[in-house]
Amino acid sequence: MSEFHRSASPGLPSQPNPTPPPPTRGTALRHRLAELRGPAVPAKALDARALAALAANPGCRRRAILDGAGVDKTALADALGSPSAFGQSQFALTRGNAFEAKVKADGGAELLRLVRAGLDPGAEPAERAAVPDLTAGGPEGRTARTALALREAVAAGGWALLDHPMLALEVAGSPAFLEPDAVVVHPDGSWTVVEIKSFPMLDGSADPAKVGAAARQAAVYVLALEQVAARLTPAPRVRHDVLLVCPKDFANLPTAAAVDVRRQRAVTARQLARLTRIQDIADTLPEGTCFAPDLPAEQLTAAVDAVPAAYAPECLAACELAFHCRQRSRAADEVTALGRAARAELGGLSTVEDVLSAARGESGDPADPAVAALRRAAALRAEALGAGASAGASASASAGASAGYGIGTQGFGVGAQGVTCP
Ligand code: SF4
Repeated sequence: MSEFHRSASPGLPSQPNPTPPPPTRGTALRHRLAELRGPAVPAKALDARALAALAANPGCRRRAILDGAGVDKTALADALGSPSAFGQSQFALTRGNAFEAKVKADGGAELLRLVRAGLDPGAEPAERAAVPDLTAGGPEGRTARTALALREAVAAGGWALLDHPMLALEVAGSPAFLEPDAVVVHPDGSWTVVEIKSFPMLDGSADPAKVGAAARQAAVYVLALEQVAARLTPAPRVRHDVLLVCPKDFANLPTAAAVDVRRQRAVTARQLARLTRIQDIADTLPEGTCFAPDLPAEQLTAAVDAVPAAYAPECLAACELAFHCRQRSRAADEVTALGRAARAELGGLSTVEDVLSAARGESGDPADPAVAALRRAAALRAEALGAGASAGASASASAGASAGYGIGTQGFGVGAQGVTCP
């Protein structure tokens, strides 16, 4: 009970206690995150696309704290002088919105027909579906309104379409609010996530990379929806087949396919559980750290550098800060810039200089399989070049070898697949 609500002592007149209540842990964290974001900088909502990308790189504390604090990473990358090439064009967004409006026209009649045809053909026709009003103040209010609408739809039976509901999912100790395109309640009380995308489905199949990205996003929504379902008795079934709706061939007519997201759901749940708590990361940052994009570039670089990152070439397709992190990773001579596969094969050798030094025989434990393989590769190269048996004669060794390890100074082909520096 707070100081303000404590009972007065018997016999004494009740006086308001002037001492303000101590900030709760949640309030303190919110203030800290607002400080990190910068004064008067609005928080950028974390969407399922960002969450899926975050879950794909759970070792990156930098992304975790920036996303947790609601920092606009596109603006931050611009301010750092490494603009992002990541994100959707305005044209794609407009086209996507127009297609979604078409799919949901007439109270979602076509969308419900697609759901029934693709996932629940034995159910009654979806002629009279409820479309509850989900308007409420703020994300917390919309989340509560969505939960209530889902409960009412299950109790009422029949079909219901929730257009842009709001779901909450705890990520690294902080709530993230998510807005799927739609959630459909079936007559049997089960729930389906619907993803509407503007990439085409040609002859019944679509770009696998885009389908994979959509499945990862939908898996995040399924996880959030399961938390809502778990609070109801009995808990409704959240279907693990989501409905992906796309334009058919080159027309603008909607078509749909069921996508099984069980694997993506399991992977995302496991990765999100591995994220370091936002509070713990925030606690390690120096006082005064701020990511406001109007700060000078040097100050922002220092602030970003204060949070450890886990750069990998995969970041280029998933994170707005990728160019900045790649440049810092290269400058620090880190082998992570070569890719996760190479990094895993090199064991404890974390910099390129460590790798070259181990290959030359100047450092490293000969019993370490990575060190042994590097030395063998260097010896074979030297032998092939007729330069004698010494494995470390040249600091500019560069070729692959039968053992599958190549060592170089700039190109850095390391690993059985000949991974090259991106
Ligand atoms: S680009 Fe940087 S911040 Fe983004 S996930 Fe990769 S390492 Fe983390």
